[in-house]
Amino acid sequence: MENAKEKPINKLRDLFENYFPAFEFKYPQYATHHVKQTIQKILSCRTVVLGCKLYGCVEHGFGRVIPFSCGNRFCVSCANARGQAWLDEAVAVLTSIDTSYHFITITVPGSISQIIKFNKKLLLSEFFSSASGSLIYWSRKRGFLPGFVMVMQTSGDRLNFHVHIHLLITSGGLFFNRWIKNLHYPPDAILKSFKTLIFRALRRAYLNQDFVSPPEYADNACSSKEDFNKFLGKLWEINWNLHIAKDLKKAKDILGYIARYLKKPPISNSRIIEYDDSKIVFMARDYEKKKRLPYIMSLGYFFISLFEHVPIAHFPMVRWYGLFSNRNKKKYIELLQGLIPSKELKEKLDPRPLWRIKYEQKHGIDPLACPVCKKEMELLFCFSARMIKELGFLSFEEILRAFCFIQSF
Ligand SMILES: [Zn+2]
Ligand SMILES: [Zn+2]
Repeated sequence: MENAKEKPINKLRDLFENYFPAFEFKYPQYATHHVKQTIQKILSCRTVVLGCKLYGCVEHGFGRVIPFSCGNRFCVSCANARGQAWLDEAVAVLTSIDTSYHFITITVPGSISQIIKFNKKLLLSEFFSSASGSLIYWSRKRGFLPGFVMVMQTSGDRLNFHVHIHLLITSGGLFFNRWIKNLHYPPDAILKSFKTLIFRALRRAYLNQDFVSPPEYADNACSSKEDFNKFLGKLWEINWNLHIAKDLKKAKDILGYIARYLKKPPISNSRIIEYDDSKIVFMARDYEKKKRLPYIMSLGYFFISLFEHVPIAHFPMVRWYGLFSNRNKKKYIELLQGLIPSKELKEKLDPRPLWRIKYEQKHGIDPLACPVCKKEMELLFCFSARMIKELGFLSFEEILRAFCFIQSF
């Protein structure tokens, strides 16, 4: 095993680069098109391959190429930036009105997680609609509309498939033009209605023949409609866990906690201790000893487990509902701010992209300023990945040369 300290900073990327080809050869069934595409994108992140923008000062002949990033949650360098951007935006929304929040966590039992694993696309969206539907239904019956953000996580500490939902909901909501305080969301009633909707979805999926049975249930539980209903009956008895932390004033801290893993890969760089071509050691929670200890896994199984959590394309794992839904947000926020006056108006966010702000903080210069006139260079061209391929550009230098520019810094 090599020493972790000598490794490049981005360990996940290094693992993909050095060991994925052998994995793909050995386990082609797990290296799906989607997985391969994701890895390809991560390995091409911030290179010319994914496309780029060309900025330049035509007068002074200085130019700069800004490559596109892959934006994938599994890409450590993108995840940090995106996590921060998401956090800034979410904090701005949640603190735009002066209310406290309830923090709800729903943990799904292992057997249900296992079923979701085999029916991801179908059931993950059912989870979103059922949980949000239960809360909106309960609140609407009491005459008010709350606002909430819901986040789904599929990964446990050992990369096992373990579904849990986090929800941050206003302690109250809007009733016509009034704010109604609500300091109690009843866990049992909400959980029951949530479970009912999920089980209805399972039954519907079975009848529509969309249901994929996990191998351990395939033979006896799912062979006929009667067996399936019996099987669901047993599943219903298993305890689901819903925990509510009430009346929290610091939505920002909880969002920080959610953001830490939300936009990031299920395993962070710092948890990976060492690896070689056959195994990997990473820190994972030991539930008996109640602390994180080194955990050894074969590299093949590590990849198989990890790829279960590759984000589904165009499937957001964070969604906003009620007062905070895209449809309602603009309509209500001003009214709400009038009703519950915000203590301090939030500062206007810097409109420049985060990388540019960070670069300036670090190097003391605006990366898009011309070194001679100091003016912002003009955006001259936007190359898509396809154009780069067609034009045959292999590096940033080639692009600058083609436009007779000198690299600005
Ligand atoms: Zn990236
Ligand atoms: Zn200039």
